[in-house]
Amino acid sequence: MIAFLLYLFYLVPPIGQLVQGGVQLQNGLAALKRIKEIENLPAEPVGAPAANTAEPVGITFEDVVFRYGDDRPLVHDGVSFAVPPGGLTALVGPSGAGKSTVFGLIERFYDHQSGTITVGGRDIREWSLTELRAALGYVEQDAPVLAGTLRENLMFAAQDATEEDLLRAVARTRLDDLVARLPEGLETPVGHRGVLLSGGERQRVAIARALLRKPRLLLLDEATSQLDAVNELRLREVIAEVAAETTVLVIAHRLSTVTNADRIVVMDAGGVRAVGRHDELVGEDELYRELAATQFLVS
Ligand code: ATP
Repeated sequence: MIAFLLYLFYLVPPIGQLVQGGVQLQNGLAALKRIKEIENLPAEPVGAPAANTAEPVGITFEDVVFRYGDDRPLVHDGVSFAVPPGGLTALVGPSGAGKSTVFGLIERFYDHQSGTITVGGRDIREWSLTELRAALGYVEQDAPVLAGTLRENLMFAAQDATEEDLLRAVARTRLDDLVARLPEGLETPVGHRGVLLSGGERQRVAIARALLRKPRLLLLDEATSQLDAVNELRLREVIAEVAAETTVLVIAHRLSTVTNADRIVVMDAGGVRAVGRHDELVGEDELYRELAATQFLVS
């Protein structure tokens, strides 16, 4: 039973979000029903691209309109932006601008009311949920570590991954130092019954876990917890390295981790107000300049 719950937690990202938020049992049951629905979806049409190849996919939002309910205010009021396959794209903007909602729509945890979202050039509604979820990796904010060994933590959602895949993911996420430091390496128990990991290490464990599933698009909700300078630099390097091989879309709470992004999408009040690289946006967009100034990136 515990293994099943963990399976839900890690393979179905929104469940992880829900559990993180401490939702009540009935929400969990609704989520289970949703899993059943996902399981019962029809097989893929012949000719559809194979899921879970590592080939990166791009995304487009075209005039997307979304509200959480008929009586709720618009969260997205004509959101448009394009993310080509591969590379690093960051979503930034004030709290409530609708950044997490972009992730919720890409995961199809919610459906947009109008406009078009494409993933890999296909309308998102043409992807089955199973296929879509297999193509996506999701790393949540302040990702938890399970009670178990570091190896179990990494392999949990990718039981078929080989030892070589595992070691590569460890190297790509700069976890080698941690593995070398732990008394039993990958076999060391971590989490509350073992060695406690720092916020930066936890986030990199979560990225490694996501990479082992070979996502075609990695959604990364950057940790809000403070990272020391070394961990912040490591995270920046890891994101850049992952973005060299797949599409990475990051919700950035700290601009310092994404100043090197290929493109930064500035969201505000239900829309996209600017898209560009850091240097361009500092020169051209007042809100971005303010965000950067509050984080001491410009004077
Ligand atoms: P933050 O940086 O604080 O996480 P954000 O830019 O990610 O903010 P969203 O979380 O997408 O913004 O929220 C946008 C708006 O939608 C907010 O007004 C929020 O209260 C509302 N909202 C978010 N999730 C839900 C939900 N599940 N049900 C109803 N309203 C929601």
